[in-house]
Amino acid sequence: MTQTLTGTPVVGGVAYGPALWPGVRPDYSAEALGSTSEVPEDRRADEVERFARAAAVVAARLRDRASQNTGAAAEVLAATAALAEDRGWVGAATKLVEKGVSAPAAAAAATEQFAAVFSRMGGLMAERVTDLNDVRDRVVAELLGLPEPGVPTPDVPSVLLADDLAPADTAGLDPATTIALVTRLGGPTSHTAIIARQLGIPCVVAVPGLGAIDVGTPVLVDGTAGEVVVAPDAAEAQERVTAHRRRAARIAGWTGPGRTADGVEVAVLANVADGASARAATAHPVEGVGLFRTELAFLGRADEPSVDDQAAIYREVFDAFAGRKVVVRTLDAGSDKPLRFVDHPDEANPALGVRGDRIALAHPEVRERQLDAIAQAARETGSRPWVMAPMIASPAEAAAFAARVRARDLVAGVMVEVPAAAILAPAILAEVDFVSIGTNDLTQYTMAADRMSADLSALTDPWQPAVLHLVAAVAKAGRALGKPVGVCGEAAADPALACVLVGLGVTSLSSAPAASAAVGAALGEVTLTACENAAAAALATTDPAAARAAAAAVLGSEPEGVRSAG
Ligand code: PEP
Ligand code: MG
Repeated sequence: MTQTLTGTPVVGGVAYGPALWPGVRPDYSAEALGSTSEVPEDRRADEVERFARAAAVVAARLRDRASQNTGAAAEVLAATAALAEDRGWVGAATKLVEKGVSAPAAAAAATEQFAAVFSRMGGLMAERVTDLNDVRDRVVAELLGLPEPGVPTPDVPSVLLADDLAPADTAGLDPATTIALVTRLGGPTSHTAIIARQLGIPCVVAVPGLGAIDVGTPVLVDGTAGEVVVAPDAAEAQERVTAHRRRAARIAGWTGPGRTADGVEVAVLANVADGASARAATAHPVEGVGLFRTELAFLGRADEPSVDDQAAIYREVFDAFAGRKVVVRTLDAGSDKPLRFVDHPDEANPALGVRGDRIALAHPEVRERQLDAIAQAARETGSRPWVMAPMIASPAEAAAFAARVRARDLVAGVMVEVPAAAILAPAILAEVDFVSIGTNDLTQYTMAADRMSADLSALTDPWQPAVLHLVAAVAKAGRALGKPVGVCGEAAADPALACVLVGLGVTSLSSAPAASAAVGAALGEVTLTACENAAAAALATTDPAAARAAAAAVLGSEPEGVRSAG
């Protein structure tokens, strides 16, 4: 009977194959470990020697495998080898052997002591308990003359299931035969996840109920949705795998520029934070920078950077995208991004306080110096950046900002992140050359729900129809005035939502560069009319799930839920 289990999605992708479980771990009964009787005093030195040799053999074997691997696999194997030689662990086991405990039982007891400490520390340390248990299993198997525990090499491409996979198990895996990883335990930062990412195979962790799946049972793993379908309909499962492969190939092959299937241009841009992230973004198929979050380049600074210092950083970004569009946002200081050199007043509600462009109320000179630096970098690189202000709430604020930008012969715009700005979009747009909608804050302020609150994530969903209505109003105003309306919040990273935004009239999409290919490929699959129909369908709903479903029904399943793997 088909059954669907769910867990934490770690690496996207879809795979279908028979289940495989790793080899049996050593028997830890007192009899098997030889802990029912004390080691006589005259044999304890030999037993200490036996333990030391077994630990050294295991460490050498792992180091050897590390040298045959590269990247994360090599690092993981080397780290596990180091655990087998860890002075604390080896010392604790040795002390027990010196007191008469058998070497295998001492390895088990020392591991228990250390695992308890790691678990108490929580987080990353707790996730290392699996590594330690793996070292114990290998050393005990060596001491008992058993075959090395771990993952067998499957004869057919298989889905590897486990309670948790030890790094040494996963590091040697071949993605041709191990096509997905699913574990009952583990978190998104566990070694299983790291290795799955490197191998590029779908991975889901923390899946309850996994133990009931027998070896050989066919399973479908959807690493994007975090789903494990046990004994699915074979034809349907194959179809999901094929559809995913088609989609992945299209994403991998998408090189831009952004346009719909019927050729309507929609620039696909990158969000960056400094020179390094801008240079990294050029490896993706982006046409420019839609949001340069300048405050992120200065978060650690106690003093305001000089105009020259600032210009040097802006130059790096302009150089990385020479000849291409770059939208610079002036400092969005305050609330979730406090800057030490702008003395933020003590506020009861910082998200509703003196943040973003409002810092110019008390410190107009900070904004002036930043605009001077942007203009200087533009002169030095021969670029003409677009410059926008964050957190604009009124046409008067937009006009005041635009005047300062135009005085430096730069292109002036503002972000639409406050519902008031969306409602008065025609008046705001009349003052500037372009706007960019920050859907992260626009959603937060529309829904009166803190974007940082995990408890309120259903409210801060950018598919909220109320938010889509505000985007529609801004895009309509932009169209009427013939001025660009971009989106630079996380909404622009969701391929299906990106199609809806374009249908609402948005003219460019900017997001994390890694999302660009999936967004561009999805857009290339649909016509503008399909986008408009999907937008109308989403606007007719009253909750995010219904909006998603309505858009998917129009767009087809192709762009639905596409997320970048890893
Ligand atoms: C936004 O609010 O959507 C946005 C792009 O700005 P930030 O995430 O930096 O607040
Ligand atoms: Mg914002």
